[in-house]
Amino acid sequence: MIIINSVSEMQRWSQEQKAAGKTIAFVPTMGFLHAGHHSLLVEGRNRGDLLVLSIFVNPAQFGVGEDLDVYPRDLCADTQLAAEAGVNVIFAPTVASMYPRGYTTWVDVEGITDILCGASRPGHFRGVTTVVSKLFNIIQPDVALFGCKDFQQLAVIRRMVLDLNMLVEIIGMPIVREADGLALSSRNSYLSPEERRQALSLSASLALARRLAAEGLRDSAAIIARVRDLISMNPATRIDYLQICHQFSLQVQAQIDADSVLLLAVFIGKTRLIDNSLLLG
Ligand code: AMP
Repeated sequence: MIIINSVSEMQRWSQEQKAAGKTIAFVPTMGFLHAGHHSLLVEGRNRGDLLVLSIFVNPAQFGVGEDLDVYPRDLCADTQLAAEAGVNVIFAPTVASMYPRGYTTWVDVEGITDILCGASRPGHFRGVTTVVSKLFNIIQPDVALFGCKDFQQLAVIRRMVLDLNMLVEIIGMPIVREADGLALSSRNSYLSPEERRQALSLSASLALARRLAAEGLRDSAAIIARVRDLISMNPATRIDYLQICHQFSLQVQAQIDADSVLLLAVFIGKTRLIDNSLLLG
């Protein structure tokens, strides 16, 4: 495994591999890797001749007052996990090399970026789609893997790839959870033991919604009301959004069906966590 920091060196490596007929699988991350990232890498290993992992805490996707400065980093542990997962290249560029002086070009997917996380975090998805476009141009992957944990992000990336005729296959991977249900996230490291306990209300509320759906409840507002009550029982939680949407269009649904997904974002103290689940799938 090699670590490449230079954009031009990464581009040269990819060009050489493609010229030699190799396919490249790519997993973009912000590092501080956990079992969720690992599952993407394991699948990526099977999907291409070569596996590239990027680690880049992308300032463009953080808003003012968000956690850019304190976002957890551990390149040493990440390197070990990546090597064990069979990564060929870690691409870890600097901010200055990705956004050099004079940088002014942005990729903006309209519509589905205005709702849910896009409404709470203005400019977030523009930062995501811009950096992912740049990474695709640099690494030239045949296939790229993303987690369903960031459900809206996956939908936005699929839209961008379709709209901009990008020649990369997008794979969505299931959410990896702790044994007690908490979805793995680098941001879980911000939680105190008590907050960690309260954070279980996210996965518990998804389980409740799935149970209500299985029992025949179809009214989204009624399901959301029950979920809201459950989460609000914990004093340190603040709901950012709770929505039931169609899994592909992300249109809000008044009645649930086999394509309904419950998406939520909740602050536990200062930490904003997201989670989601299909309701009948
Ligand atoms: P991040 O480092 O948070 O930007 O995440 C990098 C990739 O890993 C994204 O595609 C995420 O959706 C994915 N990911 C993060 N957490 C999980 C998880 N618990 N299960 C599956 N994929 C995840």
